Amino acid sequence: MGYKRSNHNGSFISFHIKTFFTVIAYNRWVKAIAIFFTIQLLIVSFPGFNSLAPSASNPLPQLKAHPLPSSLAKWQGIKSDQDYFANIKTTPVGYLIWSKFPITVYVEIPPQPDNSAENLRFQQWYEAIKNAIAEWNVYLPLQQIDNSKIADIVISRSSVTRKVQLDPETGLYNIPRAITAQTQYEFYLDATSNILSHRITVNISPELGETATLGAARHELGHGLGIWGHSNLETDALYFSQVKDTPPISERDINTLKKIYQQPTKLGWKIP
Ligand SMILES: [Zn+2]
Repeated sequence: MGYKRSNHNGSFISFHIKTFFTVIAYNRWVKAIAIFFTIQLLIVSFPGFNSLAPSASNPLPQLKAHPLPSSLAKWQGIKSDQDYFANIKTTPVGYLIWSKFPITVYVEIPPQPDNSAENLRFQQWYEAIKNAIAEWNVYLPLQQIDNSKIADIVISRSSVTRKVQLDPETGLYNIPRAITAQTQYEFYLDATSNILSHRITVNISPELGETATLGAARHELGHGLGIWGHSNLETDALYFSQVKDTPPISERDINTLKKIYQQPTKLGWKIP
């Protein structure tokens, strides 16, 4: 989910299927094919990305809430009734919730240290991402690891390209605005535990200044931690558009996150 993205369309969904399939091919996860078809079936029946009612023929786990992580349970804001939970979308398997902590994060590392301008820019980017991780770590336990293959969240320093799309109403092509960051998810079945799991990929542009990089990382990590939607107040980190003064993580952001983590999901539960 990137800035400016307000809804999920068909191509977005099929991208996830493709990504998911690639993951299966590379990792040879047992039973993964079965779950691939299940998810594909769910997506076909629910093209609007709405929540799913479990059915008897559905081999996925039942929708069920996890215990609220202690860091979120402990947290109490002053304005506890203020949130934008109504804007949060579910996935074909329910809310995008982590239940195994710490959540592991891989951040792309700068190449061999040298004093080149490009390397210093990379270093600056890396520090900004680390700061964003430290900020969210207050609310959900995060741990930076150096193996991208096993990380729950992978953050890469790369530009985001968007496809030109035909607008069926006007017959004109929409030339997408450049977007600076993007978050995507994919589902997989953990072969050892048989648990329905997810993985997040975040791209953050190398073109941003230090403050904007921190703002983008803060925003995208919010999506990656489960805030799959946007705020309409520009004082929230998950405000839908980039603003000059990048907002810090707000009480409304955390109230929303806390509410999300009390919702049911199929993620984090064993396949029956
Ligand atoms: Zn966003």
